[in-house]
Amino acid sequence: MSRIDVDDLGRRIIDGERLALARGITLAESTRDDDQARAQALLDAVAGHTGGAVRVGLSGTPGVGKSTFIETLGAHLTAAGKSLAVLAIDPSSPTTGGSILGDKTRMEQLSQNPRAFIRPSPSSGALGGVAAHTREALLLCEAAGFDVVVVETVGVGQSEHAVQSLTDTFVLLVAPGAGDDLQGQKRGILDLVDVVVVNKADGSRAIEAQETAAHYRNAGQLLHHGKSWVPPVLLCSSIENRGVVEVWSAIETHRASLGDALAQRRAQQAEQWLWRCFETELVRRGLQHPELRAAVAGVVADVRSGRRSPSRAAAALAEIAMPQGGPKAAAPR
Ligand code: GDP
Repeated sequence: MSRIDVDDLGRRIIDGERLALARGITLAESTRDDDQARAQALLDAVAGHTGGAVRVGLSGTPGVGKSTFIETLGAHLTAAGKSLAVLAIDPSSPTTGGSILGDKTRMEQLSQNPRAFIRPSPSSGALGGVAAHTREALLLCEAAGFDVVVVETVGVGQSEHAVQSLTDTFVLLVAPGAGDDLQGQKRGILDLVDVVVVNKADGSRAIEAQETAAHYRNAGQLLHHGKSWVPPVLLCSSIENRGVVEVWSAIETHRASLGDALAQRRAQQAEQWLWRCFETELVRRGLQHPELRAAVAGVVADVRSGRRSPSRAAAALAEIAMPQGGPKAAAPR
């Protein structure tokens, strides 16, 4: 694709052409150097048309009801005349090769809705790289004029940070009974969350759902004590279509409460991404260095066997890629 084609693709994305958007995202996801250069040119071409969407993050363990929730929410939003794009960050590791989010047919009704766009997640790649491409996909969806972009991820720790660093409002979906482990890993995530939703608050689990909500309310109040925003804890049933509209209201209230801080949050996120992308790019370029490539296997073996500390080994690799000859840089063996 030449530069002119990229400009044309950008124009078609801005015109709201779905195929062009899908093609643009595929370009952004490509790991080929020439595609990456074109993807950057494409993002430059649409830059004046981004930033307009309500960016919502949604996280929760597998089976908690994320796709059902998005289906129901999407039906409401599109009925109200809004358009919605759904992007997924898939934390599946490249070693297992499997995709947690992408295997089954998800959001069947929404995927047929002309006001909705659902992008299946890439099934492999380092989380940082996948998330960087999700940020680019989000910008392209904004250029295409979507009112709301939902970035979804399976909650496995790291991926929540990625979602939070991409969105204006971060929603955590939990199931009844899942409040007991609040002392552990979830506490850290609760720190990032703007709205908590207890899904499946229906049938025989309705009472349990209320207890879970009380758990989260207490924990949230302790954790966010004195802050301007204490995450509300809402109950909903995605399957019975109860409480989902109220979740949307809470998202809108949170966003409105940010006021000028919304621009600051986005500015801070953009800076975070600058440093993440810079690190990734440095490593990528470093690994192209022939001398460094030759040294890597030995250095890794030294670290694995304990002969060298990871920090000394990293300094040695950095010295090959960018020689300084300083006292900290141990010469490679
Ligand atoms: P995901 O893996 O988080 O995307 O979860 P899914 O949306 O695929 O839902 C997992 C299972 O929970 C499915 O069998 C859904 O029908 C069911 N489910 C989702 N939301 C609700 C709900 O509000 N109430 C009940 N009872 N079941 C639900």
